[in-house]
Amino acid sequence: MNTSGAYVAGIEAGGTKFVCAVGSGPDDIRAETRFPTTRPEETIGQALAFFREQVERYGPPAAIGIAAFGPLDPNPVSPTFGTITSTPKPGWRDADLAGPLRAAFGAPVAFDTDVNGAALGEWRWGAAQGLDNFVYLTIGTGVGGGGMVNGRLMHGLVHPEMGHIPLPHDRVADPYPGRCPFHGDCLEGMAAGPAVGERWGRPAYELPPDHPAWDLEAHYLALALQGLICTLSPERIILGGGVMEQPQLMPMVRQKVQSYLNGYVQSPAILERIDSYIVPPALGNRAGVLGAFALAHQAI
Ligand code: ADP
Ligand code: ZN
Repeated sequence: MNTSGAYVAGIEAGGTKFVCAVGSGPDDIRAETRFPTTRPEETIGQALAFFREQVERYGPPAAIGIAAFGPLDPNPVSPTFGTITSTPKPGWRDADLAGPLRAAFGAPVAFDTDVNGAALGEWRWGAAQGLDNFVYLTIGTGVGGGGMVNGRLMHGLVHPEMGHIPLPHDRVADPYPGRCPFHGDCLEGMAAGPAVGERWGRPAYELPPDHPAWDLEAHYLALALQGLICTLSPERIILGGGVMEQPQLMPMVRQKVQSYLNGYVQSPAILERIDSYIVPPALGNRAGVLGAFALAHQAI
């Protein structure tokens, strides 16, 4: 392990926990800590304390990357850059994450969504190496997506909200109304882990592999991917998050994507090589913190 030389600091700022680490990449994670997400002052204070210890050992970081839950402001020229914006999470509305880190360590701070961070980590070290156009979608407590178009992370007006795209909903076949507080039966409202659990009356991870839940889940995910493929023309789609831990789900999604596209998108990647077109993340459970490292590297 390389424990000398320049390093970056990374924060995976999640709605339930923060993971902070220093290092330079997958083979050089020098220190790591995690703690629950409570109030902003307390949680950011814990992050600052951890990084101060690392500065004593390794000197100042070359840059700091923060991959955070949102909605957030990732626009570096905006007055509210580096803040969480309209979250329903108590106390976190307008919370400034980038400001206190920059003030404490004087290093450049990169700030983006957790999914854009994970996407950039996969691009640098994982399943999206060499690609200029790809999507990273996570299906967990929520559904979120990011990725690259033309070699740049997707931003735009604010940042993509792929979890909240509308889906066709046959209320006879599936009367479950969805649980998104904003839209009801959007993708996240219908297909995130808690929606699966609520629809079937037991936690998603307890449903057996042959339960009808998984065919329905694959149906909604494939509809969403059909929309993303037709809109963004990604060269690959990475599907992560706790729900994708179900090993039978990935092949079902691939098959339904092919079926729903119905031969229209004329690419061998979809028609012949779907197994390497829709793939799991390569960085596994380190994707979050390595994503934050990747954001930091980009800021140097
Ligand atoms: P988060 O989205 O909070 O970062 P995860 O990606 O781990 O966390 O997603 C958590 C969600 O994934 C929960 O709703 C949980 O029910 C679901 N989940 C976790 N493991 C499994 C599993 N093996 N099978 C199906 N669902 C799972
Ligand atoms: Zn929604």
